[in-house]
Amino acid sequence: MEGFNGEKVIEEFEAMTKDAERVQRECLEKILEKNSSAEYLQNLGLNGRTDTESYKTFVPLVTHKELEPYIQRIVDGDSSPVLTGKPITTISLSSGTTQGRPKFVPFNDELVETTMQIYKTSFAFRNREFPVGNGKALQFIYSSKQFKTKGGLAARTATTNVFRSSQFKNTMKAIQSPCCSPDEVIFGPDFHQSLYCHLLCGLIFREEIQLISSTFAHSILHAFRRFELVWEELCADIRTGSLSSRITVPSIRTAMSKLLRPNPELADLIYNKCSGLSNWYGLIPEMFPNSKYIYGIMTGSMEPYLKKLRHYAGEVPLLSADYGSSEGWIGANINPKLPPELATYVVLPDIGYFEFLPLNNSNGDQDQDNTEATFLYVDPKPVGLTEVKVGEEYEIILTNNAGLYRYRLGDVVKVTGFYNSTPILKFVRRSNLLLTVNIDKNTEKDLQLAVEEAAKLLAGEKLEVVDFTSNVDLSTEPGHYVIFWELNGEGSEEVLSECCNRLDQSFVDAGYVSSRKVNSIGALELRIVRRGTFQKILDHFLALGGAVSQFKSPRYVGSANSVVLQILCSNVVKSYFSTAFK
Ligand code: AMP
Repeated sequence: MEGFNGEKVIEEFEAMTKDAERVQRECLEKILEKNSSAEYLQNLGLNGRTDTESYKTFVPLVTHKELEPYIQRIVDGDSSPVLTGKPITTISLSSGTTQGRPKFVPFNDELVETTMQIYKTSFAFRNREFPVGNGKALQFIYSSKQFKTKGGLAARTATTNVFRSSQFKNTMKAIQSPCCSPDEVIFGPDFHQSLYCHLLCGLIFREEIQLISSTFAHSILHAFRRFELVWEELCADIRTGSLSSRITVPSIRTAMSKLLRPNPELADLIYNKCSGLSNWYGLIPEMFPNSKYIYGIMTGSMEPYLKKLRHYAGEVPLLSADYGSSEGWIGANINPKLPPELATYVVLPDIGYFEFLPLNNSNGDQDQDNTEATFLYVDPKPVGLTEVKVGEEYEIILTNNAGLYRYRLGDVVKVTGFYNSTPILKFVRRSNLLLTVNIDKNTEKDLQLAVEEAAKLLAGEKLEVVDFTSNVDLSTEPGHYVIFWELNGEGSEEVLSECCNRLDQSFVDAGYVSSRKVNSIGALELRIVRRGTFQKILDHFLALGGAVSQFKSPRYVGSANSVVLQILCSNVVKSYFSTAFK
């Protein structure tokens, strides 16, 4: 690709990963030098010191909560060096699906640079295995609502901040095929209209489309679910060359009118292909015959969507994108051949200073009594990037050029090996416990596995779980787990009550099992919600300033998230309680 030298990128990556310890030390020095005038560091008495030992002595581990007063001052317009030497002028809204509201995090040019570095690194490796030709990418990317904070700073999601940057456009031109949709579609004010036009652009350029992507896999799946509903309208637009009246945003209409010409042959072709598909299997290769792969973050909370995405993808491979967050990037997927379920991320040692907090229950003794595990708990000390142990689980702590110092990201990862001297990570889960009534501890991952297990019973009825979440109901005595499912059709009473039992039996955590046996946790409740409920939740997040491309369905909805809980509860159509617990 023009202006891009993949081999050079790989060479640099090799050199840096061979010397990860030194690169980390120097990276921290640079961050601390650059930001030595930041009030936050000055208050901690760091006094210009840049060595690792002093850093760990003077600077405490923090969560977003502790940084909030500082961030709030920036948001309110304080332009002194609060967290960074060079004041922050843009704010990102992290998706905040766990807390129920977006969090403010600092955004600056350094984050754009590391984003481009990660993109280029994984692309260099990906392009070796899956080369893309000249053409275009069908990218389901959207801008979030943006607003000015009280202090006059622009606030929007991190992905929007990145998509808007000139570096992003230049990098995309250089490394992968540019997006087939015009900017007016990407940055349109109404995501439903943008999505429709992304699909339309994809079809207009169908022969040229080399890959299909989005930040998170959820938006790709969401787009093709939508395709099933609007394909005839898309065909009609292509046939007549005039845009559906559902598109009302003038700038989008103008931009689309430049691309749309009456093309009855193409409309017929698409119509016939869609009509010939059985249950939409292989939709993607039928529509986009030259697509080489489907690309987006597919690990963690995206895993439940892979089955359906594979259905649409047919033979086209799914490749997981990199690992990062609004707060900063962590690692690149340099082994794209691995299926997403096995995808790992190699930490780039020069994009931030990383520490790893060992988890007290990381010795593999999962079936050990949970109460005992609590007593054995000794205050763990974070270890450095090159000191982690293979097989262990850790919480990530981030220090970077965007004003975060020893920041607990809230993600749990497992070290699966080393690439040269830098660790290879597997994303495990968000660190906050999800479901707990008493001594039970079930995480996002446990919930996902239980749902997967129970959903097997739906296969016979050709049903699937479109999305799911959970809650703990403590208003009953004893408290119990509530699982919400949205299905793509109607399940029989018999099968659904069996699913409910299976869910209950599939939480294997010792605390849960023992509590259920003595009924100190009540029967599990499965609540089926109306079709479209998760769409309403998505719309709610968009209204709060979120972006579809960054959306992750919350896997636990507690009282802190009362609006979402309200949406769920008011859409329940049926509910089941598990019967006898073995
Ligand atoms: P956001 O709040 O939108 O910035 O999302 C950041 C969070 O998304 C991270 O802290 C992770 O929990 C999750 N995430 C990002 N990349 C990945 C990945 N490759 N695999 C799994 N989860 C990810």
